[in-house]
Amino acid sequence: MANIGFIGLGLMGAPMAGHLLDAGHSVFTSVRKTPATNELLEKGLQVKASAKEVALSGDVIILMLPDTPQVEHVLFGENGVSAGLAPGKTIIEMSSITPIATKEFASNIIGMGCSYLDAPVSGGEVGAKAATLTIMVGGEQSVFDEVKPLFDLLGKNINLVGGNGDGQTTKVANQIIVALNIEAVSEALVFASKAGADPAKVREALMGGFASSKILEVHGERMVKRTFDPGFRIELHQKDLNIALQGAKELGISLPNTSTAQELFNACSANGGAAEDHSSMIKALELMANHKIGDDV
Ligand code: NAD
Repeated sequence: MANIGFIGLGLMGAPMAGHLLDAGHSVFTSVRKTPATNELLEKGLQVKASAKEVALSGDVIILMLPDTPQVEHVLFGENGVSAGLAPGKTIIEMSSITPIATKEFASNIIGMGCSYLDAPVSGGEVGAKAATLTIMVGGEQSVFDEVKPLFDLLGKNINLVGGNGDGQTTKVANQIIVALNIEAVSEALVFASKAGADPAKVREALMGGFASSKILEVHGERMVKRTFDPGFRIELHQKDLNIALQGAKELGISLPNTSTAQELFNACSANGGAAEDHSSMIKALELMANHKIGDDV
């Protein structure tokens, strides 16, 4: 059994830490900004005074934080993880952050004689709870092989894509696909509803056909039922598309529809929707069409 530090017990991190505890591992977290749930404490979660102390206790330290600045702070800030590291320990960074910062963080951590994997996930809160996450990993094959049994407790489709940063690059690609799919499903349902068809029946009729997708299934259902509690918050998807658009700028390429999707998320945020599920992108299209596909609950 391993000694595992886990920092970032939010929507995703809490169920993930729960699976590690259920498997019999010792799991430590830090109190700062990470309120531990009673359920995790009952399962044996141990709370340390700082990220440094988490790193002193854990052989593997997993991070599941909102964004790049929080990861940098937890890793390298005062009393941060790096202050408690010793050669041989492994950092697994599972938040969705920028590939460029990832390479820098990895190089610093590896310079301390430790190992680093970037391992962002897809599959949402549902996948975190069901331990069916897709995990996209960047780093050394030998480190990946060593911690694979831990990944197996959290997910199903687990792939080492390449070196450090490649896991995060894969996650950015994932977020582009998801955003554009949400936009496609939103436009289709607004069109169908305005034309007089029942959007719920249209969605059902399309399932299994060529237009079928996980987004049509899960997010399409949310749009029809108007259940926009997160899930995945619009502000987090804005963060991911910002990484995509900033990366595209640096690479000198154009991502026209990613820009459009980001503008639609921006419109949702401007109307007070930043903390709603990203399926509520449909609200921006409904505003533009002056037509709602259903009544808000
Ligand atoms: P969340 O906001 O629910 O959880 C983040 C947690 O980190 C919170 O508990 C917060 O208190 C904690 N935190 C923030 N700063 C901290 C600090 N300095 N020290 C310790 N703890 C700190 O977010 P989430 O939805 O769990 O997402 C986490 C990451 O996973 C994000 O990068 C997100 O993009 C990614 N992600 C989320 C989903 C999803 O469906 N929610 C899916 C895939 C990937």
